[in-house]
Amino acid sequence: MSCDISTLTNVLQSGDPEQAQTTLNACVEMLTDPTLWYWTVAFTIVCAGVGALIGKYKNAVARDTALGLILGPIGWIVSLLLPAQKPKPKCKACGKAVDAGDKHCRHCGAAL
Ligand SMILES: [Zn+2]
Repeated sequence: MSCDISTLTNVLQSGDPEQAQTTLNACVEMLTDPTLWYWTVAFTIVCAGVGALIGKYKNAVARDTALGLILGPIGWIVSLLLPAQKPKPKCKACGKAVDAGDKHCRHCGAAL
């Protein structure tokens, strides 16, 4: 007994409780198979990684990693369609990234 749509439809239409139990057991066994979960976790990590790569070129690593993680390949498409973010301005004294409206560098305190 397998767990697929046609089997489930047949079992529901037949109304046989024994057949329903057998099918339910097959479905539970399929969903609790560790191999399925290893692949799911691996796929999610790959999706986040590809999102991070897209984000590297769009200057939005956190945004695009999250999109890849949550939406998978759809998130990659969304990342590619979203505009690239402008790189943050850098402090002239220490060279570290600062926010656009800052009056003083948060790293070294120099006036911007
Ligand atoms: Zn600085």
